[in-house]
Amino acid sequence: MNKIQMTTPLVEMDGDEMTRILWSMIKEELLLPFVDLKTEYYDLGLEHRNETDDQVTVDSANATKKYGVAVKCATITPNAARMTEYNLKEMWKSPNGTIRAMLDGTVFRAPIIVKGIEPCVRNWKKPITIARHAYGDVYKATEMKIPKAGKVELVYTAEDGSETREVIHNFTGAGVVQGQHNLCNSIESFARSCFKYALDVKQDLWFATKDTISKKYDHTFKDIFQEIFDAEYKDAFEKAGITYFYTLIDDAVARVMKSEGGYIWACKNYDGDVMSDMVSSAFGSLAMMTSVLVSPQGYYEYEAAHGTVQRHYYKHLKGEETSTNSVATIFAWTGALRKRGELDNNEALMSFADKLEAACIKTIEDGKMTKDLALITTLENPTVLNSQEFIQAIRKTLEESL
Ligand code: NAP
Ligand code: MG
Repeated sequence: MNKIQMTTPLVEMDGDEMTRILWSMIKEELLLPFVDLKTEYYDLGLEHRNETDDQVTVDSANATKKYGVAVKCATITPNAARMTEYNLKEMWKSPNGTIRAMLDGTVFRAPIIVKGIEPCVRNWKKPITIARHAYGDVYKATEMKIPKAGKVELVYTAEDGSETREVIHNFTGAGVVQGQHNLCNSIESFARSCFKYALDVKQDLWFATKDTISKKYDHTFKDIFQEIFDAEYKDAFEKAGITYFYTLIDDAVARVMKSEGGYIWACKNYDGDVMSDMVSSAFGSLAMMTSVLVSPQGYYEYEAAHGTVQRHYYKHLKGEETSTNSVATIFAWTGALRKRGELDNNEALMSFADKLEAACIKTIEDGKMTKDLALITTLENPTVLNSQEFIQAIRKTLEESL
């Protein structure tokens, strides 16, 4: 069989622990036999990040700006325990945080839907993709405990020294206070990433804040989205047959529960933090959740939403059998290959990505799955496969479809 050719490389970011094991199995079994894979390889495994003083993470983000498309394996974010385990020079920052800051991107998380793994919410038939604004608000807030009576004010000192003041509260006793901020630049990037991604996947975009209560702060989010939509995206949305829909956050939550899914839900930072955990657990499994970072310039980085599955890796190291679900990592690859194909007008590559995704879904729907899915499936008598057998079963399904 002739392998599918690629004209431009994509950026490959390798990672840690169990997902690193899956990564090489996926390449061996599902990619290299079918695609003449062109990647620029960056090893973001913790050991190599430590050796390079984390320069490799920065280099991989710059390469993503150069080539436009990246696929990333899950990586360890160091904590105190990892400092000792890996004998680290420093507690290196989260690679995802570094890459997101460099690309100024927004993360979109979407569940992979298969028959037999049913969402808790009966009427959810299509994926709900959550886009979380990843800057500011309560995550960069300054807080004070107020011990006793006194006045708290917001003070803005302009560069010329002039002051604008607003009283927050005249305390008559003890209390708490919090100062939050956001940046118009950051909100604009968030809005553009959302509009761009909605056009990419041809799905409606929903956005919600509490602008009726927060007439300046949240209203600014609403206004920026609307201005950018009207000026830059309205015509393209009409052509694509999709809509931009703004509503209040509480109304949005009520509508989401009653909806059948199939749209992107853009959320402010805190709403996205909370809602993405709710939506992903309701869809069934973290192992079936994909994630893509989209920059306002149109750079894309695909990954699984889950981590390195440390507990399984330690079993693997002891020589015990694992049954780790590789679907989200495979979908990171297919997302990146499809996007590469789209940018390069490479029909064969796009079609391969579709077929590989279909093979994953069919394998599970045929009753062959990893343990995490077997525990929650409505299919009767599923066959539980180990990590490698599952990937081989997908290969068999894929070969039958080619
Ligand atoms: P995790 O790797 O997502 O795993 C948590 C648990 O979820 C696992 O122990 C497993 O449950 C289940 N699980 C997750 N993915 C699975 C899969 N593909 N197949 C089967 N089961 C799966 O989270 P963690 O253990 O809290 O974090 C481990 C490391 O990952 C940490 O060092 C963290 O820094 C890193 N992390 C990286 C990213 C990223 O790179 N994007 C994201 C999150 C966390 P059972 O043990 O019950 O089987
Ligand atoms: Mg959360």
